[in-house]
Amino acid sequence: MQFSDINTLDDLNKVYPKHILDKFPIAGQGVYVNETNENWNSWIWQQKKRINSLEGLEKVINLSEAEKNNFVECDKLFHTGITPYYANLMDKNDTHCPIRMQAIPQKGELIVMKEDLEDPLGEEADMPVPGLTHRYPDRVLFYTSHNCPVYCRHCTRKRKVADPSTSSAQDQLDAGIEYIRAHKEVRDVVVSGGDPLSLSNKKLEYIIKNLRGMEHIELIRLGTRNPVTLPQRIDNELLEILQRYQPIYLNTHFNHPREMTRESLLACTRLSLSGVVLGNQSVLLKGVNDNPKTMLELSHKLLLMRIRPYYIYQCDLSQGISHFRTSVETGIEIIENMRGWTSGLAIPQFVIDAPGGGGKIPINPNYVVKKDGNKITLRNYKKQQYDYFEPV
Ligand SMILES: *Cc1c(COP(=O)(O)O)cnc(C)c1O
Repeated sequence: MQFSDINTLDDLNKVYPKHILDKFPIAGQGVYVNETNENWNSWIWQQKKRINSLEGLEKVINLSEAEKNNFVECDKLFHTGITPYYANLMDKNDTHCPIRMQAIPQKGELIVMKEDLEDPLGEEADMPVPGLTHRYPDRVLFYTSHNCPVYCRHCTRKRKVADPSTSSAQDQLDAGIEYIRAHKEVRDVVVSGGDPLSLSNKKLEYIIKNLRGMEHIELIRLGTRNPVTLPQRIDNELLEILQRYQPIYLNTHFNHPREMTRESLLACTRLSLSGVVLGNQSVLLKGVNDNPKTMLELSHKLLLMRIRPYYIYQCDLSQGISHFRTSVETGIEIIENMRGWTSGLAIPQFVIDAPGGGGKIPINPNYVVKKDGNKITLRNYKKQQYDYFEPV
C-alpha cells in the first residue's frame, strides 16, 4: 500500500479494522458546514482563514467575559492564530476545554515570575550562526520558520514565534546549511521552528535536499505540530518529498486525546506509508493533561496512529506560561502509573530541558531501593522488592 492509495477518510477502512477507527471520531466541518469540501481540505485555505480576532473566534465558540478581556490584553503580547480545523475541535461552552486552553489567551500569560526567562533554554547562547543551536556533540537544532498554523499558548519560543520581523530569511537558512556542511561531527539535524511545515513544499525540499546531500548527515528529523493543528498540510507533494530523502523522522506534538481525530489519523497514516517514522513530544500542562489517565489514553491512541511516544516535557520557564506549570512530582507520578501497567512502547521519557542551556535531563521514578556491597535492592511497579547481585 502506498500513501497515494489513501486519500480520504473512507480510504482508512482499507488500513484499519472498524473497532480501531471508531476510537478516532470524525471532526468534520462543524460551524464551517457551508464551506466547500475543497476549501476545507486545502491547507492554503486553512492558513488564510486562521482566526486572529475576537470577532472571528466568537463565530465558532461562546466566550466568557473573562476570555474576551484576556484576548484583548494577551493578544498584544503574543498573537492569536487558530486554524478553522483546530478551532472546530473546541467545546462551544466549556472554558476548560483542553483545545481552548491551548489556543485561547488566558490571564496567566500576563504574569511574569521572577524565575521566568526570555530565553529559558539558552538557545541563543549556543548559536554559532543565527537560527541554529549546536548544543550536543552530534546533532543540531535548525530553526527554519517562525510561523505556525496555531500559536500554542504554552509555546516555549514565544519570544520568536508569530513575530514576522524575526522570520528566517533565505540567507539565514543558507548560513545554517553551510554551518552543518562544515561540521562533519553533526549526524542528526532537527528541523524545527516555529513549524517547518509552515514553509512551502519547495522551500522545505530545498532544506532537506541540501542536508541529504551531505555524507556526514544520517538523520533528518522534522519537529512539527501540523498533524495536530492542520492535518490537511500533509499533501501528496509533501509526502513525495519526504519519501525521496529517507530516512526521515517526524516528531509531532499531541497533548490531549481530544486532538486525535479521524482527520489526524489520515494525515499520520499517510506519513507512515511514505516511510516517515513518527514520534510524539507532549508537554505537561496544568488542567490540560497533567494526570495519569489522560496521558495513558494519549499514549495508547498514539500507538494506534503508529506514533511512538518519545518525550513528555516539564513545562519550561518561559515568560507567560507559568499558569501551565505542574510540579515535577506530577510527571514522575504519570510515569509511575505507566511503567509495568502498560506496554513499554507506550511510555515516553519524562524530561526537563534544563534552564540556561543544560539540555534535556531525564527524570524517572526511583526503582533502586538501596545498594549494600554487591547487593542491589530494587522495587518493581507493584512496589515489591527484589535483590540483585552484581559480580564482585
Ligand atoms: C531537543 C534538542 C535536540 C535533540 O535532542 P534529542 O534528545 O536527541 O531528541 C538537539 N538540540 C537541541 C538544542 C535540543 O533542544
